[in-house]
Amino acid sequence: MEFVIPPTMRAAQVLEQGKPVQIVEVPVPEPGNGEVLVKLTLSGVCYTDVHVRDGDLAFPAQLPITIGHEGVGRVCKIGPGVKQFKIGDRVCCPCFAGSCGHCTDCLEGWGVACTQLKLSGFMTPGTLAEYYVGDANFLVLVPDGVKDESAAPICCAGVTAYKALKQSGLRAGQTVVILGAAGGLGNYAVQYALAMGLKVVGIDKGAEKIESLKKFEGITAVDVETDDCRGKVLSLTGGLGAHAAIVFASTAKATENALTLVRTRGTVIVVGLAPDPIKVDTVTLALRMITIRGSLVGTVTDLREAMDFLAEGKIASRPQIRKFEEVNSILDELAAGKAIGRTVAIISPDEISS
Ligand SMILES: [Zn+2]
Ligand SMILES: [Zn+2]
Repeated sequence: MEFVIPPTMRAAQVLEQGKPVQIVEVPVPEPGNGEVLVKLTLSGVCYTDVHVRDGDLAFPAQLPITIGHEGVGRVCKIGPGVKQFKIGDRVCCPCFAGSCGHCTDCLEGWGVACTQLKLSGFMTPGTLAEYYVGDANFLVLVPDGVKDESAAPICCAGVTAYKALKQSGLRAGQTVVILGAAGGLGNYAVQYALAMGLKVVGIDKGAEKIESLKKFEGITAVDVETDDCRGKVLSLTGGLGAHAAIVFASTAKATENALTLVRTRGTVIVVGLAPDPIKVDTVTLALRMITIRGSLVGTVTDLREAMDFLAEGKIASRPQIRKFEEVNSILDELAAGKAIGRTVAIISPDEISS
């Protein structure tokens, strides 16, 4: 496989906070020590890209920045010192794109907690571009038989959902409640949880979303607006409550609800970013010995594991397919809460592995 690499490429960049993303012509980056250049075929679009565009995160991105962090493509150039990849390898390029590798957190497998953490499309140039330079230690091979578009959302949505479940420490047969189950991340969490042998209660709101959950065999779908969530969970768990709840819904109320659904010594994992603070009754918390913990993306190992579930057919990943040029309308739909499931933008239509 041979690649002719042009001097410039198209990249979707935020040039000014709060303004539409521009597709601009920029130089193709050169891979440095330990890095590879990837010719991207497509990239997923995530709500974080909306935050980067609008600058409403606690740490706004340094502009201009190329957005995107769910890229898939082929290695087309290898920097000095890279041993684990060869030209033509199909890789996915996730949001967790780098860490120092030698601090205590990194050595303990917690690179996402490293002070030198790099998140692509936010802190370093992202994957909504024709080419991407990535640290080879943070790229993951896409298993044979997995389509590019199926692999892309695993880079962020899939691995984040999978990691949150791992953090819950649950074993097969135990019960997990997933709040925001019909959303982009929740949908993956439901599938990973079922594949892990957990009993799953999926909570969301509205008839359309509840109906969409019913396609998952074995799930108990609950409408937060019309059903008695606590009553349903208690009746399914012999009156004790779930072993854990994972909150993807971006409201404080969802986490407060989750605290009422877990049993004594249960765990609530918070993933969704809510604008308002959570109210917690500390007496109940202490007496019921409940753990609340946060979870953020996943490591390279988590991503490999999450990808294996897809390769083995234990989960499905079928995002909506759009054009690269439609990036602004994709972002607007995400911002307006109109997006259904995940969306990928096709960058190089002729080179996709489907
Ligand atoms: Zn993301
Ligand atoms: Zn580190």
